[in-house]
Amino acid sequence: MIEETLTTAQPDARGYFGDFGGAFVPEILVPALEELTEAFSDAKKDPAFQARYHGLLRDYVGRPTALTFAERLTERLGGGRIYLKREDLCHTGAHKINNAIGQILLARRMGKTRIIAETGAGQHGVATATVCARFGMECVVYMGAEDIERQKLNVHRMQLLGAEVRPATSGSQTLKDATNEAIRDWVTNVRDTFYIIGSVVGPHPYPAMVRDFHTIIGEEVKVDLEDKEGRQDPDILIACVGGGSNAIGIFHPFLNNPDVRCIGVEASGEGLDGRHAATLTLGKPGILHGALSYLLQDAEGQVDLAHSISAGLDYPGVGPEHAWLKQTGRVEYLSATDDEAMEGVKLLSETEGIIPALETAHAIAGLARIAPETSPDELIVLNCSGRGDKDMQTIAGAL
Ligand SMILES: *Cc1c(COP(=O)(O)O)cnc(C)c1O
Repeated sequence: MIEETLTTAQPDARGYFGDFGGAFVPEILVPALEELTEAFSDAKKDPAFQARYHGLLRDYVGRPTALTFAERLTERLGGGRIYLKREDLCHTGAHKINNAIGQILLARRMGKTRIIAETGAGQHGVATATVCARFGMECVVYMGAEDIERQKLNVHRMQLLGAEVRPATSGSQTLKDATNEAIRDWVTNVRDTFYIIGSVVGPHPYPAMVRDFHTIIGEEVKVDLEDKEGRQDPDILIACVGGGSNAIGIFHPFLNNPDVRCIGVEASGEGLDGRHAATLTLGKPGILHGALSYLLQDAEGQVDLAHSISAGLDYPGVGPEHAWLKQTGRVEYLSATDDEAMEGVKLLSETEGIIPALETAHAIAGLARIAPETSPDELIVLNCSGRGDKDMQTIAGAL
């Protein structure tokens, strides 16, 4: 459902979740963001839009995804009963497609003919290129020149799907620079172009909109858990946090029940005293990509480069709603290192026969710390955000 499950968690009229969020964009984009806010608000109320969105989630993405009881992992960790929400079973292998489907339907509803996106490792680029192929729409994906070198396979995927991959050659030639190029493109072509953002980041209304397209994850958990355990709400939810979309998608329908402990796990890379991507743990409020949120920055306020073994968590910012959830204490944020994530990959692969994405492996590392402290009657749900095939080279190299 993309209904509003929690009125208190809607951003205010200026797009703020508490102290965080907003829309810090060039003047020319202000009307485009207003138009988008209105179009999304109308679409949510339109049964035809809802039917189209849910129909595609079912028949194209393959939803509902399974809720798998992790029997051997539960035995191994020796605490509460662990369930895995299987976003790895979505078409394209991760949760990102839920949002890409929602945004392309909105783009078509608004009469836009051209899609742009930014991508770091290429996963959001692939999800966007996929839905553009499905709807026959022109697609340009901006990607750092450095990332194009590192992620050749995803570049080939996007090209096969008919997208044009444009290298961003400024700065560090990574995601931050690709995002700047995408914003520049949007400013130039705002009339016919829709910018599909890949996580709960960016200017208002993107953080709330992307979240709403992912709350289906948590909604399905409620239904399946009721069926399997006779209650809708687990005791603990765990998810990894890059920009924060898979985490907010599973947390959101449960936030109004204070008895559900929500835990987000960031990437601490080489360790909190080395190169890392632990934005909520060690960042400070600042503005990146159109929103005020926690941000890794140096003493002069310049954005620091993030580091994580997992490309999807290798981002110096985080969605503004997470900044707010941290500030209010509603969600706990932990971090896991590259090494701990590798242990997480091994743990899930060996006990359950599921090779997780390196991003997901950070949540598993958090789980391995938390689960042994819980009692056998507690229910824990881990969001298995993606499958590990894309990471096999990195995994093989690290092992
Ligand atoms: C992109 C990605 C993430 C990180 O993005 P969020 O917006 O934080 O969810 C996590 N897991 C997988 C598998 C991804 O592809």
